[in-house]
Amino acid sequence: MHKITIAIDGYSSCGKSTLAKQLATELNYTYVDSGAMYRAITLFAIEYGLASKESVNAEGLIDQLGNVNIDLQYNSETQSVTTFLNGKNVEEEIRTMRVSEVVSFVSVIKEVRAKLRSMQQELGKRGGVVMDGRDIGTAVFPHAELKIFMTASPDVRAKRRFDELKAKGKEVSLEEVRKNLVSRDLEDTSRKEDPLIQAEDAVVLDNSDLTPERQLQIALGWVKERVV
Ligand code: C5P
Repeated sequence: MHKITIAIDGYSSCGKSTLAKQLATELNYTYVDSGAMYRAITLFAIEYGLASKESVNAEGLIDQLGNVNIDLQYNSETQSVTTFLNGKNVEEEIRTMRVSEVVSFVSVIKEVRAKLRSMQQELGKRGGVVMDGRDIGTAVFPHAELKIFMTASPDVRAKRRFDELKAKGKEVSLEEVRKNLVSRDLEDTSRKEDPLIQAEDAVVLDNSDLTPERQLQIALGWVKERVV
């Protein structure tokens, strides 16, 4: 069967990666978590003293971009992504609040976006890819055959992310998680470079009240319409 490109964009923690992984497994496609790349660069910047909650040294980070190597490995059996930064497994670390609180400030930098966009385009050039993020249907793959714009209410999203972090044993309050989501959404939708916006030809999926099984059925229906 003809393999298409699937772009999934949307607000923070609305289940984009869950749907992307479901689709990748079901269709035997490659899954790429573009947010993991932004998180990895952010971790690099934090570790080199180039970014914090208070400020980002954009010039310093741009100078160092040639020294940032990111590799994503996806295990379709366990549906898990492992992110490597300069050869080190940073998967756990990039999901912490320490990185979540800074990532939206790093992802406004044009040169950072250009570097990651070309890596993402390279990963998707043969088709058969599901990629999730904020600008996949608008900037990375503007010609993707299927673009899904996902959304869910902020309360539902905060609760999901909170439960995820708690299950990993992270000490964080629901309010802290909610605040972080709302502020990242604001940063991501209002930045100048590739803001999060719904592509004109995207289909909207509000999964506030959908089970994972139902959301997969809906998305598979859209895929079917596009592969025939
Ligand atoms: O998807 P995730 O929540 O892990 O993404 C973390 C952050 O990375 C987002 O809040 C956003 O600032 C940035 N991002 C982006 N463009 C993408 C993916 C993520 O700017 N395509």
